[in-house]
Amino acid sequence: MATTKRDYYEVLGVERSATPEEIKKAYRKLAVKHHPDKNPGDKSAEDKFKELGEAYEVLSNPEKRGAYDRYGHQAFAPGGMGGGGFGQGTHDPFDVFREVFGGGRGGSGGGGIFEGIFGEAFGQESGERGGRGRGADLRYDMRITFLEAAHGVEKEIEISKLQSCDTCHGSGAEPGSKVTTCPTCGGQGQVAVTRGFFNIAQTCPKCRGAGQVIEKPCHTCRGEGRVEKTSKIKIKIPAGVEDGTRLRSTGQGEGGVRGGPAGDLYVVLHVEPHDLFQRDGTDLFCNVPISFAKAALGGEIKVPTLEGSALLKIPAGTPSNKVFRLRGKGFPEVHGRGVGDLHVKLYVEVPTRLSSDQRAKLQAFAESCDEHTHPEENSFFRKAKDFFK
Ligand SMILES: [Zn+2]
Ligand SMILES: [Zn+2]
Repeated sequence: MATTKRDYYEVLGVERSATPEEIKKAYRKLAVKHHPDKNPGDKSAEDKFKELGEAYEVLSNPEKRGAYDRYGHQAFAPGGMGGGGFGQGTHDPFDVFREVFGGGRGGSGGGGIFEGIFGEAFGQESGERGGRGRGADLRYDMRITFLEAAHGVEKEIEISKLQSCDTCHGSGAEPGSKVTTCPTCGGQGQVAVTRGFFNIAQTCPKCRGAGQVIEKPCHTCRGEGRVEKTSKIKIKIPAGVEDGTRLRSTGQGEGGVRGGPAGDLYVVLHVEPHDLFQRDGTDLFCNVPISFAKAALGGEIKVPTLEGSALLKIPAGTPSNKVFRLRGKGFPEVHGRGVGDLHVKLYVEVPTRLSSDQRAKLQAFAESCDEHTHPEENSFFRKAKDFFK
């Protein structure tokens, strides 16, 4: 078991000479990235998160690190060379995480601190809220069929979202009324406030960051510059997309406040499974049953492909589970030139209901068989003879 473990330094992506600070920094970065709450349902992220916790627990402890440097994973094996009887990664990886970040586990439930961590690590747009009035990003979940994913498709969706007001063209001012520079911030949209020792810039409370004051707010949007409207958006889905693929449609999110930039629209694709095909990346798999007679005699069969069908020549004496590869009949790469292959796996279907006539003919066939008809069976039972006592 110990031999399959990855090197702890490699897990954290640090040099063997890394300082405790570097190790902690590396852990912080990776643990946030692979945290299960950030990657729901992703087993590999969960495993990575556990691995990181274990690596950090050892490398952050000078004693354990020393033992690991000398003996590797052996140091912690039961009865291993470490001698000191270190229990190694016995801690819950969430405990390790909590220790480092000094917060609660912060799941979907009560994760104020957690939110903050992610904000810090992922550079979520902060500070801009309210300020320049960028519209929110929107998410749209779309189901598409397996074949649509294979060939690409253009879809039109209808979404209701906040968009620029037609009456005031997004300015928020009633047509004909005056718009003046905000007296509080002088048009900056921000004011300086003193907090303890610091001077920090804050969104202007008077104009809410717009830098301008409206004499008379627009009657349609009440001065916000945007209203809820339904619009149709064309989404072009390229060939080769996968389940979970996220497409970004720039500027198709919510409109900004008072003419601020619009947010983006993220379309998350959900690809329906197919009755006949399974997929792994660009490779396509299809299991095709054939009769025992056809497997023995050979012939041609029609197999399904993404384009429709293809003829497959089967040589006489084709064994069950034989895989035929049809080059270039798989999935296309998204935005790429490559196309995967279709792997057709044939399996012999053994009849379960025979007519009396068929049974008689099969019986006659069986009686006509000699040691050359089924050489594998023959050789197997010759070798196994000694066991049948
Ligand atoms: Zn308006
Ligand atoms: Zn102002």
